[in-house]
Amino acid sequence: MQPHLSHQFADALPALALPWQAEPPVRPTLLALNTTLADELGLDADWLATPDGVALLTGAQLPTDAAPVAQAYSGHQFGGFSPRLGDGRALLLGELTTPGGPRDLHLKGSGRTPFARGGDGRAVVGPMLREFLVSEAMAALRIPTTRSLAVVGTGHLVQREQPMPGAVLARVAASHLRVGSFQFARATGDLDLLRALADHAIARHYPQLAAADQPHLALYRQVIAAQAELIADWMAVGFVHGVMNTDNMTVSGETIDYGPCAFVEGYQSDAVFSSIDETGRYAYANQPVIAQWNLARFAEAILPLLDADESTAITRATDALNEFGPAYRAAWLDRMRAKLGISADAPAEQVAELAESLHALLEESRADWTLSFRSLAAAARGDAEPLRARMLDLPGVDAWLERWRSAAPSAELIEATNPLYVPRNHLADAALRAAEAGDLAPFHRLLAAVRAPFAEQDGVDDLAEPGTAEFAAGFRTFCGT
Ligand code: AMP
Ligand code: MG
Repeated sequence: MQPHLSHQFADALPALALPWQAEPPVRPTLLALNTTLADELGLDADWLATPDGVALLTGAQLPTDAAPVAQAYSGHQFGGFSPRLGDGRALLLGELTTPGGPRDLHLKGSGRTPFARGGDGRAVVGPMLREFLVSEAMAALRIPTTRSLAVVGTGHLVQREQPMPGAVLARVAASHLRVGSFQFARATGDLDLLRALADHAIARHYPQLAAADQPHLALYRQVIAAQAELIADWMAVGFVHGVMNTDNMTVSGETIDYGPCAFVEGYQSDAVFSSIDETGRYAYANQPVIAQWNLARFAEAILPLLDADESTAITRATDALNEFGPAYRAAWLDRMRAKLGISADAPAEQVAELAESLHALLEESRADWTLSFRSLAAAARGDAEPLRARMLDLPGVDAWLERWRSAAPSAELIEATNPLYVPRNHLADAALRAAEAGDLAPFHRLLAAVRAPFAEQDGVDDLAEPGTAEFAAGFRTFCGT
C-alpha cells in the first residue's frame, strides 16, 4: 500500500522548497525495481510494481497529504559559482519513515521546474539505469551512497544528440542537503534561514551535536570527518566521481549524483572520464584536494554561524579544515591496510610504504586496479603469478612482494576487502545500450554480479575482465544526461 510521505524539509525550510508537481509519464514502464531496498525501507515491493506503485515512483499520484518540492541550492561548478541551481529536473517527494530513520524519496527526470534554466527537465533511460547500477555497486562495496529504488520509462522521447527514451529515477537518500544548499541560504543574506538549515541538518543527521558547545562548528567538523571517510572509500575502489561540484557534495557523507563517474581500470593517478573535465580538475588523485576545497566553500557559507566575530570564525573554520588532511590520511591508510590484507597493529609507516610503492608499480604498468589488488589473495597463498602477469617491472614487484610478505598478509582479509566485480565501463556501456534497445537481461546480469562483489560467482568470468585498451582510450561519459 501507499507509504506515508512527510514534508519536514518543506515545512522547516520553505525558503529552500518550491512546491511543484511531477510531469506525468505518457506510458510508464517499470524498468528496474530495487526489491531489497524496498524491504529495507519497509515498503511493499509488490505494491510498488502495481500501476498505483509506479504512479508513486513517477510522482504522478501521491498521497493526498504529500507536499513535493523542488529544492533550491547553489554550487561551485568546476570552480565557478552558480548562485541559482536547484532541482531543475528533480523533486523531493517527501520523507519516508523507515527502520533506519527518515529517508528522502526523490525523483530525477520528473519534468521542468522553475530551476530548469535551459534544460528540458528530463532524464533518459541509459544514464538513469547507470545511476541505479553504480549506486547499487557502491552500496554493496559498503560505501555510503544514495540508493536507487526504481527506474521507470516514461514513454517520452527526449532530445539529446539523438532522440532517446525518457526515464525517471526514484532515488532514496539520507537527505539531499548539500554544501550548495548552505551556499544558497548564505547568498540570500538571511542568517535566520542559514541557522535553520544548519539546525535542520544537525537534527536530521547528527542529533547528538545539538548539545555541543558550538553545534554549528561541531556540524562542520562532522561533515569534514564524513567526507574524509567517503573520499578514502572512493580512492580504495578506484572510483572517480567526475563532477565533484559543491552541489554534488552531501552533508550526510553519502555519494550523490552519478553522472560521468567510473571505476579506474589500468591505473593512472590522473584518470579522468568526464567529457567536460578538460583540465582534469576532478581526476582520481585530485579528489581529496577537491573535497577539501569544497569544504572550504562550506566554511565560507556558514561562517556567520561559527562566531559573530569574523576573524574568530575564520580561525575556527581554518583549524577545523586543517583536520581534513590527517583525517583523510588516516582513513586512506586504514583502507590500504585492509586491501593489502595486513593486520591492524602494523605500523602506519609500513602500510604507507607498501601502499605507495604498489601504487607506483601499478601505474607504471597501467595494471588493472581491481584485479591487481584481488590477485594479492593468491600471492598471500603463495602464487604471485596472477599479480606478476599484470606487471612490467618484475624485479621491482618481487622486491615489493618480499617486503609485503614480511607483514604476514591474510588472503581472507584481501578477498573480503577487494572486490572482484565492479561496474566496469565497457560492461555498463554494453548493458545500457542493450537496455535502450529493449533488452534488460545484460543489465540485470551485471547488476547481480556487482551486488555481490567479493565472492567469486559461477558463469560470470567475463564480468571481472577489464575492457580492451581501445575501449578505454575512447571512453568518456557525458554530463547533463
Ligand atoms: P547535475 O549535473 O545532475 O548535478 O545537475 C546540475 C544542475 O543542472 C542541477 O541544477 C540540475 O537540476 C540541472 N539539470 C541537469 N540536467 C537538467 C535537465 N535536463 N533539465 C533541467 N535541469 C537540469
Ligand atoms: Mg547534482
